[in-house]
Amino acid sequence: MADRPTPRRLIIENCAVATVDAGDTRYERGHLVISEGVIEAVGPGPAPEPPPGEGIPGRRVDAEGHLATPGLVNTHHHFYQWLTRGMATDHNLFDWLVALYPVWARIDEPMVGAAARASLAMMARGGVTTASDHHYIFPRGSGDLLGATITAGREVGIRLTATRGSMDRGESDGGLPPDFAVESTEEALRGTEEAVDTHHDPSFGSMLHIAAAPCSPFSVSTELMREAAVLARRKGVRLHTHGSETVEEEKFCHELFGMGPTDYFETTGWLGEDVWMAHCVHMTDADIVAFARTGTGVAHCPSSNARLAAGTARVPDLLRAGVPVGLGVDGTASNEAGELHTELRNALLVNRLGPHREKALTVDDALRLATMGGARVLGRDAEIGSLEPGKLADLVLWRLDGLGHSTIADPVAALVLGPPAPISLALVGGKPVVEDGRLLGVDEETVAREARAQARRLAEAAP
Ligand SMILES: [Zn+2]
Repeated sequence: MADRPTPRRLIIENCAVATVDAGDTRYERGHLVISEGVIEAVGPGPAPEPPPGEGIPGRRVDAEGHLATPGLVNTHHHFYQWLTRGMATDHNLFDWLVALYPVWARIDEPMVGAAARASLAMMARGGVTTASDHHYIFPRGSGDLLGATITAGREVGIRLTATRGSMDRGESDGGLPPDFAVESTEEALRGTEEAVDTHHDPSFGSMLHIAAAPCSPFSVSTELMREAAVLARRKGVRLHTHGSETVEEEKFCHELFGMGPTDYFETTGWLGEDVWMAHCVHMTDADIVAFARTGTGVAHCPSSNARLAAGTARVPDLLRAGVPVGLGVDGTASNEAGELHTELRNALLVNRLGPHREKALTVDDALRLATMGGARVLGRDAEIGSLEPGKLADLVLWRLDGLGHSTIADPVAALVLGPPAPISLALVGGKPVVEDGRLLGVDEETVAREARAQARRLAEAAP
């Protein structure tokens, strides 16, 4: 497809604006001015006219009936799982993993490319402008799996934090995955270092970050956990893993390491401002204090946690303690919907379950988790996550005057509590990636057809 031009100057007017700045400033009717991909101005009323002679010709959008928000940030996903959705639907985490590892161990480069394109397309057309992928399974001879994911990200046009995951603790070392699904410690570390050296771009406005991401305490050796942390700090990249997801994981850590997951992470160098962890469901008060003290981030994945009966993360307690918290879709083998709107809604709903919890999370809290919270968790809060002058123009115009939303007066309540809102425009660095509900970088039908063909290939190859 032809490259989409970035308009030099774009003015958006007549819409509600939720800036998600430090004061949660909202404008009932406001404007945004975008210049060279960066937000130049945001405020109430119509956009100011440029001084005579300084007006750069550009595009003007009348966004009557819309809400403008920062683009959504997804902090945890496994793109390859798009090919294994709807399987093992009544299992807890460990049983589900044991059922799926043998299938996942057959993936190859074309499969991962098709799955990544579909995962990214699904998220982008739902308002995600930055996504993170955690890929941790690298069968021998399967091709350049990380490269396939990165290419898909470039095609769809959203920002990507592609993590180079790994597993080196197979069954024979007391781990959960079968031995044929894991790498050696050396292969995992070498692959991670290569990924950083080849792909990581730390510049302002970068479209691609790499992070180091051994999979979980029950699939990774202590040596790999320790060495990955050393490597990431030497290279200046972030660290990501799964933590405190289920009671089974807690039991595993106590039996094997003589301590709970958070203490284990601390002893292996895995708490810090450069670390974010998926789930963090089974956290004691002391664990929360440790996360807050070290600035360790959390990717809250409410749908996946419910699907696998893992439990409910203590998000209000984490936020009160000052822990950075973002939202995650998680892999689509445990969250078949694969889009982030559900997570805003479910984060609010599941955290209110129980008497007297009606104020546990507000609609503004939910929007903050999905935007600024995610930006902080991915280490990009100086660039994205809020609509403020100087930040990158990653934003979404949600149409709220249609059937699904027109009777809800508060636009943020309409977005969070209502059905998924249609998107009239989504921008990444000022460049349109979605217009009138359609993706501009890839053709949706082609993506769906190719993903289906690769899912069939995988099903035929699987034992
Ligand atoms: Zn996960």
